[in-house]
Amino acid sequence: MPQPHIQTQPLLQMASGDLLALQIYQFKGKTAGRKAYIQANLHGAEIAGNVVIYDLIQWLTAKDASDLAGEIWLVPLCNPMGVNQRSHHFPTGRYSTYEGQDWNRIFWDYAKTDATLPTDLSNLTADGLVETFRQQILASFAAEQAELTQIQGLPLHKLYRTTLQSLALDADYLIDLHSSSNRGLAYLYYFDRREDGARLFDLDFGILLDKYDGDAFDEAFIKPWLALEALAAAKGQPQRCEVEAYTLEIGTGMKVDPVAVEKSLQGVKNYLVQKGLVKDAAFMLHQPKMPLYSRHCSQRYYATAGGVIQHHIEPGARVQPGDPLYELLSFNKTGDLPRIVEVRSQHSGFIYDVSTSEVMNQGEYVLALIADE
Ligand SMILES: [Zn+2]
Repeated sequence: MPQPHIQTQPLLQMASGDLLALQIYQFKGKTAGRKAYIQANLHGAEIAGNVVIYDLIQWLTAKDASDLAGEIWLVPLCNPMGVNQRSHHFPTGRYSTYEGQDWNRIFWDYAKTDATLPTDLSNLTADGLVETFRQQILASFAAEQAELTQIQGLPLHKLYRTTLQSLALDADYLIDLHSSSNRGLAYLYYFDRREDGARLFDLDFGILLDKYDGDAFDEAFIKPWLALEALAAAKGQPQRCEVEAYTLEIGTGMKVDPVAVEKSLQGVKNYLVQKGLVKDAAFMLHQPKMPLYSRHCSQRYYATAGGVIQHHIEPGARVQPGDPLYELLSFNKTGDLPRIVEVRSQHSGFIYDVSTSEVMNQGEYVLALIADE
């Protein structure tokens, strides 16, 4: 039975003297192969992925050693600062309270260094190209890592990101387990030319990240590879590197939603099996029909007035233009009676995320839907 090598990686020391650390569960197969890196809880309220990782550990340790190939690295609770943060009863940790940044918009991006792409692609196999370019990325990142030992010290976000990315940058497959901050379905974000890989997860749906917010963990990892593929295509030598990154959104925030967790667990297992890292006859090669959408299909609705939400539609519901989405009980300071504001859908599509909070200032997020194309 394979047991993981458990590595405890010091992260930083708190003012109280306590040490924060990451703990990495490394499964190594009998045979060499690709590396999958899976982390959970980068945003503090998004806890469901830790359960997926626990279940993956149970699954992997029950296998025969010969069922594993390559490496699977699992990092639960990958952001101790975010995980431990509270506001009253609520774990909010999306933003660093110290620096004000979103914990998932801080990552080192090779494409933003004075990065170069390999110039001669002609005599490289696809795997040879991946290895050559990976060494180039890691050599550039080595300068970041060297800064960890500087006597001058590093700002918090840089200290954190460098430590976390040092675990992941040499992976072939990267899976970042998030959830909604609110109440949502189980879905994922994927990148160009990764439709086949995305569908292996067979969640409720997938969204193509064809526009970036900037410096997210998955994005910083995959962008250089997408640039390399674009260069190869421009040179008339199209390549599809076997390097993939996905962010899974596992249902509702601050909760372990059993349906979303089970779907995501089955999805991650199927992905690892189909990618050849784990043998498991229970996962037969099939062609999941998971629907995929581009990012512009996602439409968010914000409160059109201040007030208290009385009725709102649930995640998963289908709507047509004109169907009711929510009702806002809106009070005023104009000497008038309170009124009900009814908000109706502008789109046909399905609801995939709904705010947990039911009290709104005008302009606050209420819900999101995927509009039919
Ligand atoms: Zn998140």
